[in-house]
Amino acid sequence: MKFKKKQPPEIYDGNKWEKHGDLDHISPYDQNSTDLCSLCHKPMKDHGIALCREGVRPVCPGMWIMQISGITELETENGLRLKYEEYDEEKEVQKRDKKAAKKSAKKEK
Ligand SMILES: [Zn+2]
Repeated sequence: MKFKKKQPPEIYDGNKWEKHGDLDHISPYDQNSTDLCSLCHKPMKDHGIALCREGVRPVCPGMWIMQISGITELETENGLRLKYEEYDEEKEVQKRDKKAAKKSAKKEK
């Protein structure tokens, strides 16, 4: 899915990560771990690991993996709703085309 960040307005590829195997670029956390996550309180072995801008970070189940030009950022469901809006590429292109069509129609007058 594509998302547009509100500030700065940049287009990201976003994918929700729920469990191991969901996304190729998320590797599983240490499967022998008996720790619980300090953020979501779920077992750490249910978590993934992502190489992010800030370094290697654990991924909580249900987190969004946001990617832009090879850089990965993690986002919670709430963060996604606050900072991003869904980006429909086809609609955006149609909008652009409509505007361009209007412009060229004006020129012809
Ligand atoms: Zn967690």
